[in-house]
Amino acid sequence: MTSDSINNQNNLFPTSSGSNESLLILLNRTSEIICKWFSDSDKLGPIPIDSNFVCSVPGEQGKSFDVLFSEIESLIYNSFNPVHPGSLAHLDPPPLIISILGDLIAAGLNNNLLAHELSPSISLLEESICKWFSIKLGFSDLAGGVAASGGTLSNLNALVTARNYAGLETNPKAVYLISEDAHSSFEKCTRIMGLEKNNLIKVKTDKNGCMDMIDLKKTVDKCSIEGKRIFAIIATLGTTVRGAIDPIDKISKFCNERNIWLHIDGSIGGIFSITNIPINGIINVHLANSITINPQKILGITKTSSLLIVSNIEILKNTFSTGLPYVSNENNFFNRGELGIQGSRPAEIIKLWLGLRFLGMRGIEDVLNSSIKRRIFFENNLDTYKYDLYSGPLHIISFLPKGMNKNESDSWTLNKRTNLLKKNFMISRPLFKNRYYLRAVFGNYNTSESHINDLLKLLN
Ligand SMILES: *Cc1c(COP(=O)(O)O)cnc(C)c1O
Repeated sequence: MTSDSINNQNNLFPTSSGSNESLLILLNRTSEIICKWFSDSDKLGPIPIDSNFVCSVPGEQGKSFDVLFSEIESLIYNSFNPVHPGSLAHLDPPPLIISILGDLIAAGLNNNLLAHELSPSISLLEESICKWFSIKLGFSDLAGGVAASGGTLSNLNALVTARNYAGLETNPKAVYLISEDAHSSFEKCTRIMGLEKNNLIKVKTDKNGCMDMIDLKKTVDKCSIEGKRIFAIIATLGTTVRGAIDPIDKISKFCNERNIWLHIDGSIGGIFSITNIPINGIINVHLANSITINPQKILGITKTSSLLIVSNIEILKNTFSTGLPYVSNENNFFNRGELGIQGSRPAEIIKLWLGLRFLGMRGIEDVLNSSIKRRIFFENNLDTYKYDLYSGPLHIISFLPKGMNKNESDSWTLNKRTNLLKKNFMISRPLFKNRYYLRAVFGNYNTSESHINDLLKLLN
């Protein structure tokens, strides 16, 4: 086959000649299916109850677009639908419209954040959006950051940096501290970093799910008596089960006294700290050494969208930079693949940039405030004679019926979740301190008060 006949055989790639007509047709057709799915979500419910999705695998011959489109349709119609107003289970809100475009643009450009020469404008964009976040958070001119594919990776980037900065890269006595309500992914980070389970030390939480300062001090003192070397303390800004906020102000002062790296896991609530929304406990975030912010979790920037902001970008560079011997760099631009664990990286910053530009600070605050309002409305109207409530200042609430033992509530929560799903309400059932709870996350902009009333009728 000549190269010409290969080129004419099919529309495999966009071309520099011609109108790319068939790509346009495909994009329009895809957009129509997705938009129809959004419109259909009311009758479909949050998740398909009886999935009839059949997985296909590549065959000897390629398939036609028509075949693929019927499979795409089946894939879409058997998906979780975050747009449905009853989707209240997790930190997975509907996609912000403009950020869908961002993903499309990133795919079309197919640039690579690994190297400046592979993403000249987007590398600058990522740098400047991270700088914007740094300033909003109150960090100094030395600050900066890097995007990563999710909060786990942003936290891992921070942990590796903190350990490196402490000079404890290979020291088996290196430990770090989290609260007992911190995210489960820290156990994964611990394994990846080549540490044992007991290198991850859990500090007690108080009755509100916040890190207990007395236990923190005790734990730190105990570590030093035992010859353990603390490379970081992690404060959670928004815990998974109830959205609690560790006492950041006190922890930051304590870390400063003891000269310990403070990382804030703001995967859930970090985005609030760039706004003027008054939230109890969000104060002096800029005294931390680093913070993870996940705009995918509440703003609706499409997955994945996560940033690590550090108070001194040079420390991040020193940790991860190896040089990129195969990338030419006549102008001495810094290659952003050298700021974290990931090498090749998609232009996820585009959808974040577009989302933030489109919303502006007012729109950002509106989305965030509305989430909290929905939680408060639910909390104020859930029957407190019937339930114990567990909530913080954010948009997450867990609850359990009063007076049940573990076995009773474990089976009650299971039945309740199943029955609610049949009524098109999807809430979650987190296992927390050896007991199942029900949890609602109110980050869904499509959920109105009347939807919440319908949910309350099924619970009260
Ligand atoms: C979700 C979450 C993470 C992990 O983020 P991913 O984007 O899922 O990797 C870490 N910490 C907290 C508090 C979270 O809620």
